[in-house]
Amino acid sequence: MVTTRKISNAAGKDAVKVVIPGDKLAVIEEFFPADFCFESTDGYIYSCVVGIPSPDEENRQMRVEPLKKPFTPRAGQIGIAYVTDVKRQIAFLELYAIENQRMIPSVSAYLHISWASYRYVSAMYDVCRPGDWLLVQLLNSIPPIYLSLKGRGLGVISANCNYCGANLKFKRPNMLYCKQCNKEQPRITSSRYEDTTLFSQLSF
Ligand SMILES: [Zn+2]
Repeated sequence: MVTTRKISNAAGKDAVKVVIPGDKLAVIEEFFPADFCFESTDGYIYSCVVGIPSPDEENRQMRVEPLKKPFTPRAGQIGIAYVTDVKRQIAFLELYAIENQRMIPSVSAYLHISWASYRYVSAMYDVCRPGDWLLVQLLNSIPPIYLSLKGRGLGVISANCNYCGANLKFKRPNMLYCKQCNKEQPRITSSRYEDTTLFSQLSF
């Protein structure tokens, strides 16, 4: 009844049972759905992940041990975030990648002006603008996640012109330039501004 597929180890012995999302694990009369399982209206429990079923007979709970552990953000990690809104003291961002791993779905995060730069900045508008991409460091691990730009290479990595929307070019540290408008635009820039290898992390 239970759907499983066997994967042999290197020696070809002691094959382990592996399930994939949507595989049938048990009937609801036998078990309650627990970690990485769900109960369907047809009366069966199904797996949500690729993993190994590990039923807890004593507590009548069906669980699956994921083969790939869920990714949890940690303080100190480096990420790539998109700016969704900017106020005078704080910017609102979505983290799309952490430590080269794409976050699906993205994770909401904040950047406070006190963590935007080692030098004094009077307003967030001189740090980043909505639509910018930033290389950031995580200050904590439990949401709400706060970000820092105080670190080697951190800052804006891609930005568009506030006036015409054209892609801004790097002029000098903390100053970008629009060729179309012939205008300088301040940002806290990363030393990796427009480094295309950073954006490869964002593809699926
Ligand atoms: Zn422009």
